[in-house]
Amino acid sequence: MIRVYKSPHTPTSLEKQTGKQYNNEDVKAQLVKDQHCKCYLCEQNTGKVFEIEHLTPQNSGINNIKEWNNLLLSCPYCNRKKSDKFNILNPLFNNIEDIIEQRIVECHISISTSEEDHETNQTVILLNRIYNGTNNIRDTKSELLFKDVQREINNFMGWLLNYKQNPSPENKGILTDSLKVVKEFLGFKYWIIKDSGLEPHFKDAIQWNKV
Ligand SMILES: [Zn+2]
Repeated sequence: MIRVYKSPHTPTSLEKQTGKQYNNEDVKAQLVKDQHCKCYLCEQNTGKVFEIEHLTPQNSGINNIKEWNNLLLSCPYCNRKKSDKFNILNPLFNNIEDIIEQRIVECHISISTSEEDHETNQTVILLNRIYNGTNNIRDTKSELLFKDVQREINNFMGWLLNYKQNPSPENKGILTDSLKVVKEFLGFKYWIIKDSGLEPHFKDAIQWNKV
């Protein structure tokens, strides 16, 4: 999970239409564009199968249903996991990648933080459930997600090793390319870069959506 950028312009249908409908085509198209088709929670590319998630649950007030800043693109899996049970950090206004530490430790995904507030704690619990399953038992979907994270991160680690052994422009370019905002699982890559001490080399490449 990383900070998310959203266009400051509210899609027309949210402003002009009456009623509770929030999922018109213009809203979907803007969210897909802003979030590069990625789920804001697991950072996986959703393809064509996505949902519009309410950061603050719909049932907490009518104003939240059509509030542009409350709508985020999510995969169906993460939307179900979050449901209306979690009060998490707002990724539009927080540098999530700095606050939440995401790492793969052998066959487990470690989600941690040094902060102690309620929203950060809720975010840690939710991400842990998304990647490791409820009670640390993965179902089929969370196992598939874990394998995808593992595959991408293994590739990234290989490219990082190549760069450490030979910091050529070509090897740097491969890493920089995999750190583009359109790529998956950047929250994990961020902490690999930090842990490896190579942050000064890739400072510009890990500034996603920061203002
Ligand atoms: Zn997801």
